[in-house]
Amino acid sequence: MHELGITQNIVAIVTENAQQKKVKRVLLEIGKLTAIMPDAIRFCFDICSQGTLLENAKLEILETPGLAKCRQCGAEITLEKPFGICNCGSKHLDLIAGQELKIKEIEIEELCV
Ligand SMILES: [Zn+2]
Repeated sequence: MHELGITQNIVAIVTENAQQKKVKRVLLEIGKLTAIMPDAIRFCFDICSQGTLLENAKLEILETPGLAKCRQCGAEITLEKPFGICNCGSKHLDLIAGQELKIKEIEIEELCV
């Protein structure tokens, strides 16, 4: 399950950015064409975050749709998989969105001094 490695990476990156403060919320952007299952990430996150600054943090996942542009007719089509066929019959598609995995936002608990 490669989601576990991905989640460990995410936890490590967020921990680095949190500067010893508790993390309240993490917003991830996962493209539909990455083949990463958001539910698996959520499951791994619960395990990986235990005992870290991310423990009990809210994990939000934004799924970005797959988008490709046809090389033949220039039409933009949405994709559920990293391949497809344009309405014109062409299979030569350039993927333009849906392959990203990004940490979009990290919300850190502000301590009153
Ligand atoms: Zn086309």
